[in-house]
Amino acid sequence: MKNTVFLTDYAWPNDSVERQVIENAGFRLVTGPADPLSAGEIEGLVREHQPDAIMTCWARVSSEAIAAGPNLRIVARLGVGLDNIAVETATSRNVVVTNVPDYCVEEVSDHAVGFALAWTRGLVHFDREVKAGRWGPSSAKLRRLSTLTCGIIGFGRIARMTARKLAAFKCGIVVHDPYVKEPGEGIELTSLDELFSRSDIVIVHSPLTDSTHHLVSREKLSLMKPGGLLINVSRGGIVDTDAVVQALRSGHLSGAALDVLESEPSVPPELLEQSGAMLTPHVAFSSDASLIELRRRGAEEVVRVLRGEAPQNPCNRTTK
Ligand code: NAD
Repeated sequence: MKNTVFLTDYAWPNDSVERQVIENAGFRLVTGPADPLSAGEIEGLVREHQPDAIMTCWARVSSEAIAAGPNLRIVARLGVGLDNIAVETATSRNVVVTNVPDYCVEEVSDHAVGFALAWTRGLVHFDREVKAGRWGPSSAKLRRLSTLTCGIIGFGRIARMTARKLAAFKCGIVVHDPYVKEPGEGIELTSLDELFSRSDIVIVHSPLTDSTHHLVSREKLSLMKPGGLLINVSRGGIVDTDAVVQALRSGHLSGAALDVLESEPSVPPELLEQSGAMLTPHVAFSSDASLIELRRRGAEEVVRVLRGEAPQNPCNRTTK
């Protein structure tokens, strides 16, 4: 019997790259629908197919799903964040969990810097204005990025690349990361409160964990200078969306650039009403180059583990 690999969902047009890697290795691929099913439905499919490996993009691989697959040897995340996988349950059942930690460092950092520039230069705002028939250069309230301070929450792989790119624009950079001691030349480590009070632009790059859920709260946003920008390219749950809507409504924030939402894929109507909101549908990771790399490397981890080899990016640890 061939080993079975279950691809739960995918955020690209088809499963061709994964299929090529898995079938070339002599394994069988069963693919779910592109859009993620519910955790219960995933559990049902695991029970039905009894896979040796699961590859998941957004779909939740719960403790129950892991327990429903006694043959399971690996859950491979086709992405970076592990918040949709019950890592501790997998670890306790000797199931390897992997991710592809560095496939989209360029893309996500470009997205963060792109949002900052779109705000300082009014690119999204004026595009909407001109298309609505308004040609109003005198209404411009644009900013000079080199005079501003950017505060980065979480200073890991992607954040360091964002900081490197922002440095080219000569803005001030402060960071908050409880696990970092040496942020590097020209970058200041601060407390979270100080970061909010000093920053014109706050960029969220930390992972979603119990300790970062709603870390960007009403209280923290109130510490910011009036008229600033919040950028979140990490995970929706880190930001309290109601607090952001209220800050946009009052004008305390002039912009919120969000690639991720706690309610995604549903978008709160109150957020859509805010002209200061710049929204993208969780695509910061995506590019022609990053997707090919992600899919190939994610599937190769599965092949390695099913052949009894060590994975390149094991993640069987308690998340910070
Ligand atoms: P990373 O693990 O290299 O860095 C995360 C950093 O956050 C680490 O330095 C860690 O110490 C820090 N951190 C942990 N807890 C913190 C806390 N309470 N406060 C402040 N900092 C804290 O991860 P990365 O590759 O830089 O990715 C960061 C996150 O970006 C991922 O967890 C993922 O959720 C998200 N992401 C989003 C997209 C997208 O398309 N929008 C794509 C890739 C990754």
